Amino acid sequence: MAQTAAAPLTEPHVSQIHNYSCHCLGLKSYFRRPGDGRRHPRVPARDVVWAIVAGHILRVPSFLRLEWLAHSAARAALALKAPFGDDVLAYCTQRMDPETTRLALAAALHQAKRNKAFENSRFIGLAVDGTGAGHTHKQPCRLCDPIKDPKGETHGSLHHFVLISVVGAGLTLPIDVEPYGPGDSEYAAAQRLLRRAAEHLGPRFADYVVGDGAYATAPFLHTSGEVGLPVVARLKENLPLLAAAVRTRFDGQPPQAVYQVGDDRVEVWDADDFAPWETLDWPAVRVLRYRQHKPDGTVVEAEWLTDFPIAKLGSLSFYRMAKSRWEIENQGFNDGKNRYGMEHICHHEPNSILIVWLLILLALVIERLYRLRYLHRGDHGVRSAMNLWDSLWLSLRTRRRPDTS
Ligand SMILES: [Zn+2]
Repeated sequence: MAQTAAAPLTEPHVSQIHNYSCHCLGLKSYFRRPGDGRRHPRVPARDVVWAIVAGHILRVPSFLRLEWLAHSAARAALALKAPFGDDVLAYCTQRMDPETTRLALAAALHQAKRNKAFENSRFIGLAVDGTGAGHTHKQPCRLCDPIKDPKGETHGSLHHFVLISVVGAGLTLPIDVEPYGPGDSEYAAAQRLLRRAAEHLGPRFADYVVGDGAYATAPFLHTSGEVGLPVVARLKENLPLLAAAVRTRFDGQPPQAVYQVGDDRVEVWDADDFAPWETLDWPAVRVLRYRQHKPDGTVVEAEWLTDFPIAKLGSLSFYRMAKSRWEIENQGFNDGKNRYGMEHICHHEPNSILIVWLLILLALVIERLYRLRYLHRGDHGVRSAMNLWDSLWLSLRTRRRPDTS
């Protein structure tokens, strides 16, 4: 695999990322046939999809600015064959089949696993969480959720989706999104998403699912069991009986163990014989309470539940799994929105919005694997995202032959 080959002698550039995606992540056939639904395409779908992926790696989140790039002298360096207008991007994304891109994301993650991208991780997690993005005052589409103030007045709309991402494995790689509009819910969308991701990734890809308190409900925990994955979820007051039983058991007891985790001292309480609530079909519930003492004196305390047996998962690993949930906030939503244009609606049409979200995930996966696993070999240090971004923009000033693979 190229990931174990000699370190690249040249500076990173966009067509190298294209080659890396095709040959090291197995995306060549996806870029040739990305699920284009147009009858008589003038611009190949490959150029449309690669322009959107490369554009998001370059942090160009609008179709108009991609049109400008495709007409600029940098086109060859971008590995694009011909110029096109922003209307082509809108027309094509409106007609693409999202399943093809979802399968490509799953295949890229499989390839990453085969390439030992997660080699230092004992457990691979899948985190799920919902968010809103793409605030607009335009004429609502079917995914638009009106934003109402306390007086009931509407102030535009927001688009909601649930994201699922690989966490706890040394690098955070998003897998898939499921939108939900009015009349649907985060909760139902998350269950559809988990089932689909588990099917696309196959039975032995991941080791656990992790979610916040909103996912600590019987139907979601049962869905996780049906797809064969133990689940780790935050325990909050939405489960009052279990929360009370945990307080009765752990309050006033000394911690069962104390760990040094980085600069923090972490005290834990862990028991696996709590009674399940009446709708939950587990024989018993295991609960971990941790009290994390940071060097600045702050103390963070939280409780998490799981169906992982103690024999298979120690308290410290349970603690790390609970903490891995933050990756979907920090490297998923925060990076996706602040750096990679997830907040921006390129073309206000439901299928186009979904396709662009999926292509942003693909851009994130490619950028992270290229930067953290491909460029970072031998004696080369890890490049920051900002450093790679600067290098890529500088590389666009150099003319290169268009990549035709
Ligand atoms: Zn909308």
